[in-house]
Amino acid sequence: MIQSPYEQGAIIKMFKKILIANRGEIALRIIRACREMGIETVVVHSTADASSMAVRLADESVCIGPPQAKDSYLNIPAILTAAALTGADAIHPAYGFLSENAQFARMVEEHGLKFIGPSPELIEKMGDKIVAKKTVKALGLPIVPGSEGSIDTVEDGLQISEEMGFPILIKAASGGGGKGMQVVRESSEFTEAFNTARSEAKANFGDDTVYIEKYLEKPRHIEIQIFGDSHGNALHLGERDCSIQRRHQKLLEECPSPVLSEEEREYIGNLAAETARSLGYEGAGTIEFLYEDGKFYFMEMNTRIQVEHPVTEMVTGIDLISEQIRVAAGEPLTVCNKTGLKLRGHAIEIRVNAEDPETFVPSPGKITMYHAPGGLDVRFDSAIYGGYSIPPYYDSMIGKLIVHGRDRQECIERLKRAIRETVIEGIKTTLPLQEWILSQPEFISGDYTIHWLEQKLAEKAEEKNSNRV
Ligand code: ADP
Repeated sequence: MIQSPYEQGAIIKMFKKILIANRGEIALRIIRACREMGIETVVVHSTADASSMAVRLADESVCIGPPQAKDSYLNIPAILTAAALTGADAIHPAYGFLSENAQFARMVEEHGLKFIGPSPELIEKMGDKIVAKKTVKALGLPIVPGSEGSIDTVEDGLQISEEMGFPILIKAASGGGGKGMQVVRESSEFTEAFNTARSEAKANFGDDTVYIEKYLEKPRHIEIQIFGDSHGNALHLGERDCSIQRRHQKLLEECPSPVLSEEEREYIGNLAAETARSLGYEGAGTIEFLYEDGKFYFMEMNTRIQVEHPVTEMVTGIDLISEQIRVAAGEPLTVCNKTGLKLRGHAIEIRVNAEDPETFVPSPGKITMYHAPGGLDVRFDSAIYGGYSIPPYYDSMIGKLIVHGRDRQECIERLKRAIRETVIEGIKTTLPLQEWILSQPEFISGDYTIHWLEQKLAEKAEEKNSNRV
C-alpha cells in the first residue's frame, strides 16, 4: 500500500539541503536520491578526493582535511563547520566512518541539524554488542549462546567456554567490519587468543572489552532489513543472505535466501519488525542473524544503511535512501508490509574491490579504461570513471554490481554476462574471483555456509602450489 502523507493531513517540512559525510559510491548514491527529491547536496571531502565523482556531481563541496580519514571523514568539527557554512539542514552519514558514532549523532542534533538515522541513544545501545544482545534477548529474539556479559579474566573465559563446549569465538564488544574476532578450538589455545583479541580490540576500537560466543560451524548469514518511522510504524523488507564471506567480510549478497522457506522468512521478518517497533526505531536498520539447522541466532544490529541495500531495492522497488530521508524529515513510511509488500524475483549484488583477485593485495591507481555493464535489470553503483585515480587511503571497494532476474538462475546468468562486459583497466579488481564463485557447483545449488569460500580458496591455492612443484 502506498500511503500518501498528504492524505493524513500532515504538512511535512522536507529538507532543503543535505550534507553527505561520506565518499565513493555511497556519496553518489545519496546525491542521486536527493536530486530526485529536489533536495540540494553538499559533499565534504578530503584532499585525496578532490577529483571524485561525488564532488563533481554534488551541488556544493567542502574540503575538510588531508587524506587520512581521522583528519577528514572522521573530523567532526570540520564536518559541522562545513554544514554551518553551507546552510545544510541535515547530515547523511551513509555507512562506515561516523555512521554509528553516537557522539557525532548527538553533536549534529545539538547544532540544530537532523542526523539521518536513529537516535544517539539507540546507536549507543546497539553499538555495544553486549548491551545489544541483552536488549534484544529481553524483547524475545533468539541470540547466539555465549557469555552473559563481558569476559574480564582468562579463568572466567575458560570456565564459560568449557561449559559451552569448544569451539568458541572471542568477540570485541565495540567490534565491527569482521575485525577482532578469535576462534578458539581447545582450552590450550584460550589464553593466547584472549590476549590477542583484547589487544586487537583496544587497537582497533579503543575498547578492550570482549565477550564469548559459541562458534557455529555451518551457519548462513541472514539479515533482515527493517525500517521504522516517528509515527510508531515499523516493518521489514525481507532478508539478505550474505553467506559468501572472506575474513568475515561479505563479498556477495542476495535476496531471497536460497535456504529459507516462506514460513521461516515470515517468522524472522516479523520478529525483526516487532523488535524495531518495540525499540521505537526510526530509519533504516539491519538485524543480523546466523542461521543453522533451521534456527536463527541474533548477532548484531546495524543502525545505518548498509552496503548491500540495493539488493532489497531491486526486489521491493523501494528507494531506501529516499525513504531514510523522508522518515528523518518526519514523514510516515510510504510502504506498509502487512498489506502485501511482495518480494519480486531475485537480486544478487557482488562487491567489486580494487584488489588482486588471488592475493587480495589492494590495487589503487589510475583507471586507464572504463566501460560500465548495462542491459536489462543490471545496476552498477560506482563512482569510478575513465582516468580516475583510486586513492590508496580508503576501503578498496570501488563499486557494486547488482542484477535482478525472475529467479536465481536467471540472476546468476545475467550477473556472469554483466561481469564479462565490464571493463576496468589499469588496476586489478576482484571481478575474476566473483565470476569464479558464480560458476561453483556449491554456489549454484545454494549449498554452502559462511566458511565455504575460505575453504574453497585454500583448496584452490593448494592446487596451484602443487601444480607449480
Ligand atoms: P562485525 O560487526 O565485525 O561484522 P559480526 O558479529 O556481524 O561482526 O560478525 C561478522 C561475521 O563473523 C558474521 O557474518 C559471521 O561470518 C562471523 N561470525 C560472527 N559470530 C559468529 C559465531 N558465533 N559463529 C560463527 N561465525 C560467526
